[in-house]
Amino acid sequence: MEYDFLVLGSGMAGLTFALNAAPHGTVAILTKKQRSESNTNYAQGGIAAAMGADDSWELHLQDTLIAGAGLCDREAVEVLVREGPRMVQWLIELGAQFDRNPDGSLALGREGGHSRNRILHAADHTGYEIERTLLIAARKTPHITVLEHYQALDLLLQDGACVGVRVLDTLTGDLFEIRARAVLLATGGCGQVYLHTSNPPIATGDGIAMAWRAGAVIANMEFIQFHPTTLYHTDAPSFLISEAVRGEGGLLKRRDGYRFMPDYDPRAELAPRDIVARAIDAELKKTGDSCVYLDITHLDAEFIQRRFPTIYQTCLQYGIDITREPIPVVPAAHYTCGGVWTDLHGRTTIPRLYACGEVAYTGVHGANRLASNSLLEALVFAERAAIHAAARLDEPPPQPKPSCITARLAPPTPAPQPDDHADNWDAARLRIRQVMQKRVGIVRTVARLQEAFCALETLAAQLEAAYRQTPITVDSCEARNLAACALLITQSALARKESRGLHSVLDYPEPRDEYAACPTLITPA
Ligand SMILES: Cc1cc2nc3c(=O)[nH]c(=O)nc-3n(C[C@H](O)[C@H](O)[C@H](O)COP(=O)(O)OP(=O)(O)OC[C@H]3O[C@@H](n4cnc5c(N)ncnc54)[C@H](O)[C@@H]3O)c2cc1C
Repeated sequence: MEYDFLVLGSGMAGLTFALNAAPHGTVAILTKKQRSESNTNYAQGGIAAAMGADDSWELHLQDTLIAGAGLCDREAVEVLVREGPRMVQWLIELGAQFDRNPDGSLALGREGGHSRNRILHAADHTGYEIERTLLIAARKTPHITVLEHYQALDLLLQDGACVGVRVLDTLTGDLFEIRARAVLLATGGCGQVYLHTSNPPIATGDGIAMAWRAGAVIANMEFIQFHPTTLYHTDAPSFLISEAVRGEGGLLKRRDGYRFMPDYDPRAELAPRDIVARAIDAELKKTGDSCVYLDITHLDAEFIQRRFPTIYQTCLQYGIDITREPIPVVPAAHYTCGGVWTDLHGRTTIPRLYACGEVAYTGVHGANRLASNSLLEALVFAERAAIHAAARLDEPPPQPKPSCITARLAPPTPAPQPDDHADNWDAARLRIRQVMQKRVGIVRTVARLQEAFCALETLAAQLEAAYRQTPITVDSCEARNLAACALLITQSALARKESRGLHSVLDYPEPRDEYAACPTLITPA
């Protein structure tokens, strides 16, 4: 099979790229499950854009830079916030139905870290609405073919340039190659590397791992955003309780009813996510409790059901009526701020390879992502990448500016002997996730990071050996990719000898001036 543009992933980034590339050639979108299965589909809160009468791109820029704790790439943020409103308008023109006020104007919500109301939402299922809109548009667009249940395994390189991918047909087990003039990684983040995550099972960091094995530069992987509030219930997977619940007045309380956030930050429940997640972590350690509570029982019950229908129904399913009782919550891994290093056009350091959305590092999130900026990032940079790939594909690839935090990490070489259980992929996956949760979580120490790195290095080498000696399956491929992402996160965390934004290390409790504006760059050689 051969196409002009090969898109890996059918979330917001992949679909936006495909729609913008289609006028310039044939497009194949490869996706490892059904086409709608993506993080995009589960996004609840909304998409940020300075579209309110009292708002401006300058204010959105300011808020993003503050959340990013000195580590955002200002130029990239400016692209994001200036182009954001136009791209959101494009989505609306494609058919996305965002909530509106009685007078027909957009109903703009507020989330932590935003100084203005600028979150467009479709109740609490904004991502579903966006995914639905983009999939309908893709179906109507000539030249776009969606290939479901095809899992990309590794990038094909020729003379250093990306010319396609090796693929597993997950229904038949067949292996084959797909070639293209340009390849886009839009495979999303790696939340599944942690035991507790808000991400669906597809989020195994495949694109990041593939790019690293192919020799691309990877950046800022230590900055994993933990969402402060996912439902804590023994029978429920980590279901997200959107930040919008706090935006509408939800209060965080301990089991004894004490409201603790004002003790940590003057913005209380509306402080940026890293502060809220660390506060909850500290309270849980202090009290020994398993969860804290998010209380919205003081709000009107009818309003709660209308504003948060999915959250209301899901909690009810687990026996919690959120109009009458507080919601038990814990923090969980939510968003990968780092990823494959890209320039302002989504180009990676490998010729003809682009990356957009959560798989990519563009520099817009810095040390902490501002709520609802990730859907916007996927939208804005995917269009830019498509425009670039259509017209300027042959330009030499960019390189990041030198950074004072750089490290080398070679992809694992297979262990001489895979241990007896190395091809028990479920067990390997669980082991990786446990190590990450315990040793590379919200608050880190150098000793725990070092222990994690040693354990992961051994495990990754054993998995690599087993991967090469057994038939390739979805499970073997994902376990190998999770191990790669776990190593990249841990190595990056060890390299950054300071605390900043989402990266908190007890041994280095303060940010260091010399590290401001220094992304962590990992090269594979
Ligand atoms: C519960 C939840 C709530 C969120 N809420 C918000 C919010 O309110 N606002 C906001 O801005 N952000 C939110 N986010 C984050 C946001 O949803 C994601 O960052 C964004 O949707 C990422 O889009 P993407 O296109 O990059 O990747 P995704 O939407 O994750 O799509 C990745 C695609 O790649 C495919 N794929 C992966 N690996 C392979 C492979 N090897 N081969 C083939 N296909 C592959 C997947 O199947 C999927 O189709 C939320 C995330 C979660 C999990």
